[in-house]
Order: sequence, then C-alpha cells, then structure tokens
Amino acid sequence: MYPKLKYNIKKLEHNINYLAKLVKKTDNFKLTIVTKSVAADKEIAKSIASNPNVDYVGDSRMENIISNKQSVEEYGKESMLLRLPMISEADRIVANADISLNSEIVTIKALNEEAKKQSKVHKVILMIDLGDLREGIFYEDKEKIMDVVKQILELSNIELLGVGTNLTCYGGIIPTYKNLQILCQVAKEIESQFNIKLPIVSGGNSSSVYLAERNELPEGINNLRLGESFLLCNDTAHCNEIKGCVKDAIICEVEIIELQHKPSLPIGEVGLDALGNKPNHQDKGVIDRAILAIGEQDTVCKRMYPVIKQGEDYIDDPSIEVLGSSSDHMILDVSKSKRKLKVGDTLEFRMDYAALLRLATSPYVEKEYL
Ligand SMILES: *Cc1c(COP(=O)(O)O)cnc(C)c1O
Repeated sequence: MYPKLKYNIKKLEHNINYLAKLVKKTDNFKLTIVTKSVAADKEIAKSIASNPNVDYVGDSRMENIISNKQSVEEYGKESMLLRLPMISEADRIVANADISLNSEIVTIKALNEEAKKQSKVHKVILMIDLGDLREGIFYEDKEKIMDVVKQILELSNIELLGVGTNLTCYGGIIPTYKNLQILCQVAKEIESQFNIKLPIVSGGNSSSVYLAERNELPEGINNLRLGESFLLCNDTAHCNEIKGCVKDAIICEVEIIELQHKPSLPIGEVGLDALGNKPNHQDKGVIDRAILAIGEQDTVCKRMYPVIKQGEDYIDDPSIEVLGSSSDHMILDVSKSKRKLKVGDTLEFRMDYAALLRLATSPYVEKEYL
C-alpha cells in the first residue's frame, strides 16, 4: 500500500548513538530523545527506550506519552512531557509522565494537588526563556524566577529537577555558548540562593547539537532533547547536515497514477489553486508530468526531495522536480528523469521536518519498518 513511510530502525539507532557520543561528555549528562515528529510510532519508541544511551523519552502530547509508557517502563527509562501541561489534564500527566516542562506556578500547583491525590512525586523542569519568546519565564526577570522556585520548593509532591530552555522554535533564535551560559548561571544562582542541587540543566533541542560538534556547549548543560537531528540528520540551527548521522533513515515511497506530456504553463484565466494560493508557474515548454498519489493532506509536497536507491542507501535525485500539489495529488516534472518511468511505478523521497510531521500523523500513509 502506498504512500508508504519506511522507517529504518537500524539507521535511526545509528543516529541516536552518534548523537549520544557527541553530546554525552560526562556521566551526568542525560539524553532525551523525542518521539513527537513520528507521532510516537510504537516500533521507534521501543527502539529508543531500549537504547542504553537514552535516559528520557520525550513527547509534547499526553496521548503519545501514554502510548510510549509500556516501552519506557519496560526499559527503566523516564518519560518527559515537553509541551507545558494543560491544567485540565493534570490527572493524566501525574499518572503517566515522570517529568514535565513548566513555566506557570498555577499549573505546577495543580500538578502538586493531583500528585497528592495519587500519592506520587512529580518532577518538573522550570523553563527559562532566553529570547526565543515561546515558553518560559523571561531570563531577565530574576525576581520572578526566584519567587517561582521558592513556591515550587514549598510543594510537598513536586520535585524541582532543574531548569531548561527552548530555542529556535518561535523566534528562530540560535543557541550559543553565550545564551546557554545564562541558563547555567540561572541554575547556579538558584542552587546557591536555596542551597539545593539542580540535577538537570536542559539546553534545548536539535539546534544545540552544533555547539557540541564545536565543543562549545557550556559545561553546565547536561541535557538536550533531540528529535529532528536523529530522525532527519539536521543541524537545525544552520540547516546543515550533521556529519556522522545519516539522512536516509526515513524514506517515503509514492505511486505514479498519471504520466502525460503536457505544457508547463496552465491555460486560461488564473485564479487560486486548490489550497487558496496564487499560482506562480514557470514556462518550461512542454514537459513530462507525473502525478503521484499523495497530497497536502498527507505531507508538505514541496518539502519532499526525490531520492534514488543505491545499495543500502539513498542519494538525492535532482533530475526530478516537484512542481506543486493539491490536497491529494503531487505533480512532478520528470522530463529529465534518469529513470524510465511508467504508471504504477513508485518514486522515493526524503523529506524535511514539516513534511515528516504530516506523513507520520496521516492515517492515509502506511508505515513500514526495515
Ligand atoms: C519538539 C521539542 C523538542 C525537540 O525538538 P527537535 O528540534 O525535534 O530536536 C525539544 N524540546 C521541546 C520543548 C520541544 O517542544
């Protein structure tokens, strides 16, 4: 059945192990591997949880945390809820997540009440915003940070596991030695002011990997939460490939349903396309056009990159160009294709993060494991 998303578990494992070696410079470095962008796929979650290099399995949604739970417990790991908790689901967060990232004291108090009811201790990481302006208490507001910490420490069933930050998500701000050093400094100030130890200082997501490559990750950072880097081999700070990781661990295979020799420029008065965008087509004369049975409901077609199999690996195939898409069609220019194609053949693609998110989430996309 097509479209098919093919997960190469061995290659994903290779990427996790490579990244672990890169970032785990000390014994107290704890690695979180994130499952949300593959919709917490069961096989992948199991392979992550069973990997001795992985300490925490992270996800942003409780449905996924619950789906990961069996594997996480079986291998003695802990689960980390990445998106700030909704107060309305405090009960299932306390019941199913070991750790959550937080920035609101009202929410942490709600978690505490729930933890009392369930006779549990729930661990929280207090998020500090270093300027990306998504979640976290603004780093300059020391008074607020210290006040929230003071209140957390008074709660009977909450353990303050540490502080953390998230970057390169909303504001596109890149982690640097300098801004992460601010987080380490905040951790130190909390430790000295309250005479406690903070076991975790969580220095961001895949965009922090490049700092480890350059040996510029501040010493105080002892946790990263990595998703895209192990899935797609992306250094998301600079849109580079991470040398040492492989970028063909996830491949999408799609079937050709039409091949026609037609003009490249649409004929007639131009309005909007199926998705409400104004088309901007190039005139390349008459071309060989292929239609594939996949569309915007399943992926972001322009973020799919044709590849060709070579032995066990895939290499990019720039001879095929993605022209556009509608809800369930993807249109390609295959005039220069190195391969001889016919209706019923399949083409393979690697993809970026946005495309993977939809593919992994779409019930119309078959999942297969290698
Ligand atoms: C999604 C997410 C991550 C993982 O991000 P990647 O870019 O996929 O590595 C880490 N932390 C938080 C809070 C997230 O929401």
